[in-house]
Order: sequence, then C-alpha cells, then structure tokens
Amino acid sequence: MKKRVLVTGGAGFIGSHLCARLLDDGNEVICVDNLFTGSFDNIKHLVDDPSFNFIEHDITKELKVKCEQIYNLACPASPKYYQKDPIKTAMTIVYGSINMLELAKENNAKILQASTSEIYGDPLIHPQIEKYWGNVNPIGIRSCYDEGKRIAETFFMDYHRQYDLDVKIMRIFNTYGAHMSIDDGRVISNFITQALRNEDITIYGSGKQTRSFCYVDDLIGAMIKLMDTNKAFTGPINIGNPEEIDIYRLALKIIDLADSKSNIIFCDLPKDDPMRRKPNIELAQQLLAWQPTVDLDTGLLKTINYFKRICVGQ
Ligand code: NAD
Ligand code: UDP
Repeated sequence: MKKRVLVTGGAGFIGSHLCARLLDDGNEVICVDNLFTGSFDNIKHLVDDPSFNFIEHDITKELKVKCEQIYNLACPASPKYYQKDPIKTAMTIVYGSINMLELAKENNAKILQASTSEIYGDPLIHPQIEKYWGNVNPIGIRSCYDEGKRIAETFFMDYHRQYDLDVKIMRIFNTYGAHMSIDDGRVISNFITQALRNEDITIYGSGKQTRSFCYVDDLIGAMIKLMDTNKAFTGPINIGNPEEIDIYRLALKIIDLADSKSNIIFCDLPKDDPMRRKPNIELAQQLLAWQPTVDLDTGLLKTINYFKRICVGQ
C-alpha cells in the first residue's frame, strides 16, 4: 500500500538510494536534506517524479509534515566531514533525532534510526554482536559521532518505552557504492579515485586494521525489511557484510580491479581509528531473513564504474 515516507539525509549517499527504492515500491517520498555532504546530483533523476518532494531543511530545526514512516539518515558519515564541525555533528544527531521522534509521535509514524557500528567504538569483542555495549572514547575526535549516535539510540528506546512509539534501530556497518562523493574522504571513495587517477593510494597506519564492506543495494533491502517489522521489534540490529578485509589488501584489490598504476604510501593513522570491525548478522538472518548478496569484488567493480563516469569522464 502506498505510504507517505519522510527520508532525512535523502540527498546523501545512502539516502538517495533509499528514496529511489521507496519510489519504485510505489510510495510518496519527502526527501529532507540541508545539502551539507549530500548533493542535488544524487536526486536529480527523481525530481520529475510527482511522488517525490524535496525540502531543503536542517533537521536541527523543527519540521512539520504529514507522514506515516520516517527514515532518519541525516548526518555526515565520513570522519573527514563529521569532524569538520563536531559540535554541529553532535547537534544534528541529538536535536535532529529529537525533532524526528517528536514528528513521529505527532503523526503516529514508524521511525527508523540510521545508527552505526561506531557505537561499538574500538571493539573488544569480535565479531560485534548487538548485546556488546562497546568501547568508545567519550572525549576523542570521533566522539561527536560515536557518542551522538549512542545517545540517539537511547532517545529512540526511551520514546518507545515512554510513548509506545514504533521505533527501529539499525546499526549500519561500512557501506559503499554509487553516489559516494569524490571528496568524501572515506576509504573506498579515496582509494577508487586515487586508483583511477594513478595517484598514490593513501593507507593510514600499517593497513592491518580491518573493515567489512556492504554494498549499498544490500543495505537498502535490509532497511525496507526492518521498517516492515512489527512494533515489538525495535532492534538494535546489525546490518553489514561479514566479509572482513584489512585495508592493505583492500588497496591491492582496488588497484587490481581498476587496472591502476598507483603506488601505495603509508600516512599517519588518525586517532582512535578502530582496529577491527566485522558484524555478527545472525539476528538479521533470523528475524529479517536478510543477508548480503553482493560480494566485495562485484560491488567494487560497480562502484569503480560509477566513479569512472563521474571523476575521469571515461
Ligand atoms: P552522507 O554524508 O552521504 O549523507 C548524509 C546526508 O545527511 C547528506 O545528504 C547531508 O547533506 C545530510 N545532512 C547532514 N546534516 C544534516 C542536517 N543537519 N539536516 C539535514 N540534512 C543533513 O552519508 P551516508 O553514508 O549516506 O550516511 C547516511 C546515514 O547512515 C548517516 O546517518 C550515517 O551516520 C549512517 N551510516 C552510514 C554508514 C556508511 O558506511 N555509509 C555507516 C554507518 C552509519
Ligand atoms: N583509511 C585509509 N586511507 C584513506 C581513508 C581511510 O587507510 O584514504 C582507513 C581509515 O584510517 C580506517 C579505514 O580506512 O582505518 C576506514 O575508514 P573510513 O573513513 O572509510 O571509515 P571508518 O573509519 O569510519 O570505518
């Protein structure tokens, strides 16, 4: 049945894919974004659809719209951008979450929070399970994001307990694909643009740190499934691809797939950079009947082709 769905951060990397999928499924979509890290280019193919509505708005400010579902994605996700104005980042997460929860309460709408694997910090348990409470530095350069997302989870659960609101918390692990911006600063967009330009590939630290990368189409499938669960299921639930890789091997793989002549250089490791990250996704497999279907090589090739079109004009 057609629904009126609000997507905050809808002009960003993940949000733009979510808006497209929701429209494909026959819904009406209200995309709210202040275009801080997002771009109108990500949604320009959607604007002619009469069911799509874009509102340029900062979610730290109150918003009044009618809707039945809210996906709260608005927040810079790359360390480069969330550390640019850390106070604003924390405010976006905290005030933005409160504003969206209040809006959900007024509309009696379901609301899904894009939380993150960062709530586990530099994890002492591997792979990370939802019951793990994490190992986060509360005063470091990543805290505006990590602690912001942790308190957002608290607000979501308290609105559920106190007002019986239908909330869903998704802990998203590193995700990649088309619509990541060229200067986003995250590892996959950096390595691919460097490889395509035959520039040095910048590994931070030794490259022994690991991440597990999920292709964006897989993530969007899980978001829709989670929103469709009944009120009794709030999460948090991990969503990611458990295929773990160290950053050095990722660099070699991208050089190979992009057929690049780039060299690898080693740069300083940013402070508090987590050493290992891999989701345990048993809960998602059991409760959502979900698991990723796109392997890293396939997803990287698709992403490389996207970046070829936008950054090298090939
Ligand atoms: P992104 O930076 O591409 O998108 C975020 C969007 O939010 C952008 O369009 C930006 O302009 C918008 N935005 C930022 N502050 C805003 C504000 N105050 N008001 C309105 N709009 C604002 O990032 P993404 O990778 O698409 O991430 C989307 C969400 O998913 C974020 O909440 C992020 O924390 C979460 N997440 C992403 C990943 C990942 O690997 N991509 C991993 C974990 C969690
Ligand atoms: N990284 C890197 N080179 C880059 C960008 C990132 O080696 O050009 C490393 C970074 O230090 C981290 C990993 O890649 O260990 C993932 O970084 P990203 O910013 O993509 O995500 P996050 O650290 O938030 O998981």
